[in-house]
Amino acid sequence: MATAPGLQGRLAVYDAPGKPFEIRLFPVRPPRAGEVLVKIRMSTICRSDIHSYLGHRPNPCPGVLGHEIIGTIVELGRGITHDMRGEPLAEGDRITWSEYFIPGPSYFTEVLDLPQKSPGVDKYGHMAATTEPHHHGGFGEYCYVLPQSWILKLPDGLTDEEATPINCGVATMMCVTERAGIGMGDAVVVQGLGLLGLYGAAIARARGARLVIGLDTVASRRALGAKFGVDHALDPSAMDEAQLVKRVRELCRPDGADAVLEVCGYPQVIPAGLQMLRTGGRYVLAGVVNPGSTVSLDANLILRKLVTIRGVHNYHPRNLVEALDFVHGNRGRFPFHELVDGKYPLDEVGRAMKDAEERKVLRAAIVP
Ligand SMILES: [Zn+2]
Repeated sequence: MATAPGLQGRLAVYDAPGKPFEIRLFPVRPPRAGEVLVKIRMSTICRSDIHSYLGHRPNPCPGVLGHEIIGTIVELGRGITHDMRGEPLAEGDRITWSEYFIPGPSYFTEVLDLPQKSPGVDKYGHMAATTEPHHHGGFGEYCYVLPQSWILKLPDGLTDEEATPINCGVATMMCVTERAGIGMGDAVVVQGLGLLGLYGAAIARARGARLVIGLDTVASRRALGAKFGVDHALDPSAMDEAQLVKRVRELCRPDGADAVLEVCGYPQVIPAGLQMLRTGGRYVLAGVVNPGSTVSLDANLILRKLVTIRGVHNYHPRNLVEALDFVHGNRGRFPFHELVDGKYPLDEVGRAMKDAEERKVLRAAIVP
């Protein structure tokens, strides 16, 4: 199917942080070598989209947001024949792809095995709508999967609701739980039961954790925790920090948690998280994505308790493969489809963003 000459596609664009979204038309051309033109089926709103829209971090304008995207292939550019696992790709196939793409080989990719940190790495939903080929975000009808992205064909059995968060939320938590070294018999604490925390609890369980404790001030999220493998969901606002640390440590006998995962985005929870750890425990930071996430803590605690601290930002392409397999393999065990609990047409992106910002929905989905 060739892309028709003169084809245009709608994009929801905003001109400056916080300004209303407007639907504008941009040209759709045939994909070039290494590109894939996709018709978007669903795009979910990630917390980082909200941070970008509100101007908490720089994002070029006129902006087109959205990086948790799935779609069907309209046309394959020259050289793209298979997905990253060797599955043949054809027009009409439903695919997911990495939230980022890299300019080519680099020291970071070849030597450090950190392609997600390559110089010049760029992300979907992070470029100006005026930048060719215009359609490179989720809040629109079309998206170009650009060269040096990692593509995966989606199995037929997976619903759009299960599949869309795979390339950001799930893959990120694959990386977080990997970096936390979660294994058989571990006691794990998850600070924040938003989408990342709920996936994190479920993945920790699947990796063999014996105990998962979730912390969140929102009652509905604590209630959802049980469905995703959380044994004890505690409300940090119901007690002071010392009481919270004591309660968690009592639950994680004999000496505290093997791993604590920060996915709430509030740096002030870090000192308590460190105190919840056992001697030799692991702490992974994945929520504090904004610059200026300053916190003061007793560094002696890290030294004395032999604590390992790691940061996770984006993920390795292998985590995308694992994320798809995890969701596909555990869809009967955990109700992933319930996490996408609001659907909006493209011209209601503004309302969707507001509902997501106010946490009225866990994951809002744009269905163009
Ligand atoms: Zn995201």
